[in-house]
Amino acid sequence: MRKKIIIGNWKMNPGLTDAQDLVFKLKNYAFKNKQVDVCVCPPSAYLVTIMNILKDTSILIGAQNMFYKEEGAFTGETSPKMLRDLNVGMVIIGHSERRQFFHETDQDINLKIKSALKFGLVPIVCVGEDLQTREKGNAESWVKGQVEAALKDLNQNDIEKLILAYEPIWAIGTGKVCSGEDANKIIEMIRATIKAHSSESSSNNVRILYGGSVKSDNFNDHIKFENIDGGLVGGASLNFEEFIKIINLANNVHALH
Ligand code: PEP
Repeated sequence: MRKKIIIGNWKMNPGLTDAQDLVFKLKNYAFKNKQVDVCVCPPSAYLVTIMNILKDTSILIGAQNMFYKEEGAFTGETSPKMLRDLNVGMVIIGHSERRQFFHETDQDINLKIKSALKFGLVPIVCVGEDLQTREKGNAESWVKGQVEAALKDLNQNDIEKLILAYEPIWAIGTGKVCSGEDANKIIEMIRATIKAHSSESSSNNVRILYGGSVKSDNFNDHIKFENIDGGLVGGASLNFEEFIKIINLANNVHALH
């Protein structure tokens, strides 16, 4: 059975004091009896500070981005080797904000995935359509194309290490949520695409999450689907009480499945 995972993407938030305050609260919360993985992805400038606070806990740490090159004259970038040296376990790749504001292409994303895997990092690969694409009825084919591009040249072993997140762009940070039923449909299609590219076992083993305005009062609609293995949570992950409630929702359904 796939273990549920809740990942907090802090984006370029919050200030250092608030960030420390949040993780001290998380650290003191009893995760021991939880059946879900919990990961936080702070801004890269705070990774070391946050990792030091969380070092004796089960909370996983992810970066929000990396470049695909190992080292070199790439001012401002962070390499997978550096993340590995820090013991960062995961890295978000292809978030729609990276695609939109930093012009990352499907090809860049595929290179980043391969490079992250080479350095032992778990890529959290984001895919999702914009509103126009959904309204034209092309959401499935758009997301399928993104998944196929992400998986290019990856073997079954590599694919089974990935986490995918279906994040419709129109639902990110907007308060508009994609219904659990619609998200589940796309996630089923993603599993079928993985199966066609690799094998049934890869498609059964890869964790696929929903992301887009997840809150404690809407997430039950998603996490109740067996196919949806957790959430990639932006805004709500900055609020301790909300984040814990979302983790608890995943923990409760884990016991049911
Ligand atoms: C995200 O950052 O990936 C995200 C889904 O943000 P939000 O939950 O704020 O919509």
